[in-house]
Amino acid sequence: MTVLYKANMVRGAEWARFFAERAPDVPFRLWPDIGDPAEVRYLVAWVPPDDIATTFPNLGLVFSVGAGVDQFDATKVPAHIPLVRMLEPGIAETMVEYVTMAVLALHRDLLHFINQQKEQVWREIRITPAKRRRVGVMGLGQLGQAVLERLRSFDFPLLGWNRSPREIAGVTCYAGAEALPEFLAKADILVCLLPLTDETRGILNADLFARLPRGASLVNVGRGPHLVEADFLAALDSGALSGAVLDVTDPEPLPAGHPFWSHPRILLTPHNASMTTPDTAVDFVLDVIARHRRGEELPGRVDRSRGY
Ligand code: NDP
Repeated sequence: MTVLYKANMVRGAEWARFFAERAPDVPFRLWPDIGDPAEVRYLVAWVPPDDIATTFPNLGLVFSVGAGVDQFDATKVPAHIPLVRMLEPGIAETMVEYVTMAVLALHRDLLHFINQQKEQVWREIRITPAKRRRVGVMGLGQLGQAVLERLRSFDFPLLGWNRSPREIAGVTCYAGAEALPEFLAKADILVCLLPLTDETRGILNADLFARLPRGASLVNVGRGPHLVEADFLAALDSGALSGAVLDVTDPEPLPAGHPFWSHPRILLTPHNASMTTPDTAVDFVLDVIARHRRGEELPGRVDRSRGY
């Protein structure tokens, strides 16, 4: 019963160490050292190998090493093999830090001050109290909820929008496409934490920007293809949007010379908002493997028909 890891190799060495400590009886291998392919029962991958079904005849389960699965070509993972995404606390903790940083940066005009500093300009900006800055989160899954929980410690009025209805203490929740305009009209800072699916691709578009309060700002930590670039740049130019923090782009890495690199009202990070933490991820994977062997339900199991 071998576990094969095929993702970031530096972190892979940490995975190997934690597996050796916590499950010395479970053989753990780092790609491309696959050993006997017939022994591979569990695969942990960012992008799985193309010929997965024929190479590993006894594969029982595939883990995405990240919280999202849009990078997977699910058609290459046979339908009878469950696909499980990472529901480990390290991803949520690091995402909470990042979104808190981004929301506070936009709330407190950090982009403006960065530009002023470059120009050696000493000019104060009137401070808007948090209780007058409404923060709206799109996608109320594991990450959206964790982010809102932390943002509650500030005084921001909080809103959330989701496919299915949610009840979250201290958050005004909206559900479904028909409720989106009402939600957007109140979101001074909009945070996208949606999965990338056929329904959500291009959701951050001209129509959406036009529905936000004028001068709203955006944090995109979902996926690059959620954003329609031309609409976004036009919204920044027209003042419909006042600024944005982007952690994800399309493509990644962002090519040299792309307008996002030098735009004065965009703060850009290299898909680094959160990261799977080997220490806690190994515990999650071992727990899922134990449940799989007992024939139990699997936390984080991807619903392939929904795409997340
Ligand atoms: P979850 O699956 O836990 O949550 C996704 C939420 O989005 C669910 O609540 C779901 O609703 C909602 N949703 C899905 N489709 C729609 C839709 N069409 N309209 C409205 N709501 C919708 O995912 P996570 O919270 O774990 O992760 C969210 C995303 O964050 C990932 O898919 C990934 O793209 C991104 N991410 C980015 C990272 C980064 O470093 N930048 C790191 C990790 C994740 P419902 O409850 O009805 O299913």
